Amino acid sequence: MSAGAPTIGVLALQGDVAEHLRHLETVGARAVPVRRRSELDAVDGLVLPGGESTAMSKLLGVYDMHEPVAERIESGMPVYGSCAGMILLASTVLDTRADATWFSAIDMTVRRNAFGRQVDSFEADLVVDALGPEPLRTVFIRAPWVETLGPDVDVLASVRASDGADHVVAVRQDNALATSFHPEVTDDVRVHRYFLDMVRQSTS
Ligand code: GLN
Repeated sequence: MSAGAPTIGVLALQGDVAEHLRHLETVGARAVPVRRRSELDAVDGLVLPGGESTAMSKLLGVYDMHEPVAERIESGMPVYGSCAGMILLASTVLDTRADATWFSAIDMTVRRNAFGRQVDSFEADLVVDALGPEPLRTVFIRAPWVETLGPDVDVLASVRASDGADHVVAVRQDNALATSFHPEVTDDVRVHRYFLDMVRQSTS
């Protein structure tokens, strides 16, 4: 744990690790990849990146990292999951593999690959009140959506999908933040700054 800039880890078993590390450095965190227990012990907060949630859950088992990460989240370490990372933070996951595991950090049901084949990937400008009035460019890549939420979950953003309905795509519950989209692949660093603020508040 650090004096000065908080240290934020990015789970580096699979997925878009480098992009998160770069955005975290840009907003003023010390950013480090996390693959093993000793590295996890040294961080004030953790990002679960986009990638493939079932592959990541398998690798968490192979590296004996599921329990340590679960314990840190349980004890209040701030955690941010984007896309596959959102799936890992859910309490219920639909359309996943029978052997997949996740952390149940946010009281929500998510559906994997929810936006359908024709629109596997799309972009949208969303106003996210928590980030200010300027719309946020959001990139969705085979993204999940949030299908149901518990009463303690705050909705930060929703998007209108091709089914004509609005679907929840950004949420927060206490120390856990999750987005269906990938802020790490755009130049807008406000989501990472918001997460850094969560980490600062938890360490102050
Ligand atoms: N569809 C992926 C999964 O289920 C998530 C996609 C992503 O992270 N871009 O894990």
